[in-house]
This record gives sequence, structure tokens and C-alpha cells, in this order.
Amino acid sequence: MRKVLYPGTFDPVTNGHIDIVLRARELFDAVVITVAINPGKLPLFTVAERVRMLKYCFKEYDNVSIDSFNGLVVDHAHEVGAVGIIRGLRAVSDFEYEFQMALMNKKLAGDINTVFLMPNEKYTYLNSSIIRNLASLHSDVSEFVPPNVNAALKEKFSKS
Ligand code: ADP
Repeated sequence: MRKVLYPGTFDPVTNGHIDIVLRARELFDAVVITVAINPGKLPLFTVAERVRMLKYCFKEYDNVSIDSFNGLVVDHAHEVGAVGIIRGLRAVSDFEYEFQMALMNKKLAGDINTVFLMPNEKYTYLNSSIIRNLASLHSDVSEFVPPNVNAALKEKFSKS
């Protein structure tokens, strides 16, 4: 059973993240999506909301599960019994940071490999922060996020 961990902020999950998970589940027996609890960041959605949205998106896939973690990604990878970490690469601009993280994680845990996946090119310009900005300005983001996330964004910004 080869399990892989997909860590991220997922604030909120977009069609780009979903594309990466669907690719990962073809390559591994199971994917654990894990929402990073980062006290330094002020997210739009709480950890519980982000976990709930992800669970809804992947409810039909029994080899995809969702949890959250606090601390080091590699420690959580060991906890869940994952053999590696998935990260998505959209553009060259992602590479520098992701490369540093992958090398540091390798140093912290030599048995955990980082696997980079590229999404369909139509998702390469998508990121959660652009989605939050567009939604806050009441722009239609239904093309970029699943319907449950679109509804949650509308609800968040309904009073602004
Ligand atoms: P983080 O704060 O850890 O970067 P994100 O939720 O923004 O969290 O992203 C989690 C992972 O998913 C990262 O590896 C990121 O590069 C990747 N990712 C985010 N958006 C996309 C996308 N549109 N296509 C492919 N990968 C993506």
C-alpha cells in the first residue's frame, strides 16, 4: 500500500489542486490531503472549513482522505505511513521555493521523497490567493473552483 501525502494551505481548494490529487491517485494507492495549520498565516477559511470543503470534493474517491497537521510535513508523512510528498508545479516561479522545501525535507527525512506533478496547462495560472481576491471583489470564480467552494466564497463575502 503506497500512500502519499499532499500538504498545503488549500485556502480554498481550487480546480488546480483537484487536478493534482486526481493525478496522484492514479500513481499511488492512496492520497492523504493534509491542511497545514499555520498560526503565522491569517487564512480566509478556518482549518475545519477547509477540511470540510476538501472532504466534499473527494467524497466519491475512497482512496483519497483528508486531515490536518501542525508541525513538520515529514513528521506527518511518517505518522500517516506515507512514502512521499506531492507538490504541484505550475510555473518556473514555483520551482525555487519548492526545490528548497524538497531538499530540506529530504535532509530532515531521507526516506520521504517529494514528487512534483504538473496540472493540466489550463490550471497553471490558478492560485488560491487570486481566487480569494477575485471573490472578495464579487467576481465570478465558478470556472476555477468546485461548486461547494464557490458557494462558500459567496457566503463569506456576502456581507462585504
Ligand atoms: P502552500 O501554501 O503550501 O503553497 P497551496 O494550497 O497554495 O499551499 O498549494 C499546495 C500545493 O499545491 C503546492 O505545491 C502548490 O504549488 C500546488 N498548487 C496550488 N495551486 C495549483 C495549481 N493551480 N496547479 C497545480 N498545483 C497547484
